[in-house]
Formats: sequence, C-alpha cells, structure tokens
Amino acid sequence: MTEMFEFIKECKEKVFSGIGITSSDVEILFSISDQHIGELALAANQITREFNGNKVDVEQLNNIKKNACSEDCTFCGQSAFFDTGIETYQLPTPEQVVIKASKAKNEGAESYCLVAAWREPSNKDFEKVCHIIQEINDKVGINVECSLGFLTIQQAKKLKELNVKRYNHNLETSRSKFSEICTTHTYDDRLKTLQIARSAGLELCTGGIIGLGETQKQRMELAIELSGLYPEEVTINILVPVPGTPLELQIKLENLEIIKMFSIIRFLLPESVIKISGGRETNLADSGKELLNSGANGIITSGYLTMGGNDSETDIKMIKNMGLEI
Ligand code: SAM
Ligand code: SF4
Repeated sequence: MTEMFEFIKECKEKVFSGIGITSSDVEILFSISDQHIGELALAANQITREFNGNKVDVEQLNNIKKNACSEDCTFCGQSAFFDTGIETYQLPTPEQVVIKASKAKNEGAESYCLVAAWREPSNKDFEKVCHIIQEINDKVGINVECSLGFLTIQQAKKLKELNVKRYNHNLETSRSKFSEICTTHTYDDRLKTLQIARSAGLELCTGGIIGLGETQKQRMELAIELSGLYPEEVTINILVPVPGTPLELQIKLENLEIIKMFSIIRFLLPESVIKISGGRETNLADSGKELLNSGANGIITSGYLTMGGNDSETDIKMIKNMGLEI
C-alpha cells in the first residue's frame, strides 16, 4: 500500500465520521499524481453511495430567454459582446413551457430548470416568469428550478412563495480567475445573489466551468469556495468552446483532471447532488459514465442552453445499465 493510498483512505474516513476534510487535505488531494486518481475516484464513489445511494438526479433545462445578454462572460455564446450566430428569442408563452415541462416529467426528469440569458430580470419579465412557474405548478407538477441571473430579495421571496425548489447561480471559476473571464460584474455580485436566494429559503445550486484555462490551484479555490456555501447541488460544466467567443480555441482538459475535480468535490460535499452539466457529451467519450462512478450523481439530459445533447432515453438507459436508478 502506498502512502497516497493511505492518505485517501484517511480522508474518506474523516468524511464518513462527519469531521470532514481540511483545506490542507484538499491541497494534497489536488496534488496527487495521475496514477492515484483511480483510488481517489473509487473512494469518492464510496462516499456517494454511502450518503446518496444509487440515485442519479436527472434534470432538463429550458432556455426561456436566449442570447443578446448584456454581460461579457468570455465562455458564453449568449453574450452580446461576441458574434456567435446564435439565434435570439424572448420569453415563450406559459402554454409552450407547460408542454415542454410535461414532456420532461414523462421522460423521467426530477426537475425542470428555467434559464434566462440576461444579467437580471426586469420587473416585467420577472412577472412573466412567475406566471410560467405558476402554470407549471398547476398543470405539470415537477420540481421547478430557476437560473435567472441576479435577484433582489423580493424576487427571491416571490420564487419561494411559488414553490421554486432551487435557485441556480454559478460562481463560474475561482475568485482569482474571475476578472479574466468577466468584467461586467464581480465575483461578489454572484455571491450576493446566492446569499439572497439562501436567505429567502431557496435551496442553492451553484458551480462553475472547468477548462477555462484556470490553474489546478484555481480549481481548488473554486472547490473550497463552493463547499463553504453548503449548496444542495453543485453543477460543474466542462467548457464547450463556442466559435466567436474569446475561448473558442481553448484546449480541452485532460480526462483525469476532470475526474479529480468531481471526486474532490464529493469529499467536500458528501450529501450534495453533484451534477455533470454542460460539456458532458462533448468532452467525455463515455457521456459521463466514469464520472457517475467518481463522485457525480446527477446529469442534465436532452440538450443544453444553446446546443443539443443525448436524448433522455439514451441517458436513462445508460444510468440503468450501470446499475444506478433515477
Ligand atoms: N445568465 C444567468 C447567469 O449567468 O447566471 C443564467 C445562466 S447562464 C446562461 C448558464 C450557465 O451555463 C453559466 O452560468 C455557465 O456556467 C454555463 N455555461 C455557459 N456557457 C458555457 C460553455 N460554453 N461551456 C460550458 N458551460 C457554459
Ligand atoms: Fe449572460 Fe449568464 Fe452568459 Fe454571463 S453566463 S453572458 S450573465 S447569459
């Protein structure tokens, strides 16, 4: 048995005992060499099964407002700063959303997330979104989640009143990297909305994108920052370089680096849903099977905000073939 194997085992025992791992443990875990990543992933999988069983959280998205966003996030194909050729559309009618939410429910989705490409909702748009949520509640009955950018406390309370289960707002990257990927708002702006959502009683879903050109240390900073928020769900995207954005030529992350990130987040947040989000099909040859045995226990199915993905039948078959459940 190697020293690193023993160290991973000690960290796992700390998690099982409820003590949790320290920042210096996290630093050592991030420093492990490729040859030990299999051991790390196995331990992360054992933690997942102990705290979450075999269940995989399956979610579908609806990009209710597309493109022409006022913000300059360098990875995002929906920013008005970049010419990406992505079509723009405004809010759909409640009837249109209800049809898609019912389909998602029939296909086995646990939750349905309404996402909007804007900095924050105007009062008028917020009212329209509330109406859409009410209609989904009345006619479909699926967990509704939202990702609507910055929120005021009044808006967050209104979402809570409407039974929105979880609010998504991503930190995207580490604090030290953030000003390189966005200049139109700050890291603290993002943290503030998460605090507002939490204080209104909404569950939190937060995460980021890996593969933006961040260092391993910056990935570690993001993991630690996320764990300090105790989110019910962590959502990790793997960059999909969008033609026309400043990151269109970004080099792909190594598979082992991706496994390392998911595994360590599981050590930090044993009870949370850890979702493989955008970039699952494009970056992972196996559509995420290995990650679902390395700490992850959630996926987004049936496509993303501006691009397609596996259909739900394919994904649900994959989950069942792995001996996991939805
Ligand atoms: N505008 C709101 C916001 O920024 O919070 C709503 C959600 S935003 C459209 C959805 C999320 O998709 C982003 O927070 C980011 O993590 C992810 N995302 C956007 N572009 C991506 C890309 N090219 N590759 C991977 N993930 C991406
Ligand atoms: Fe706008 Fe959100 Fe895209 Fe940033 S990530 S440009 S805020 S839609």
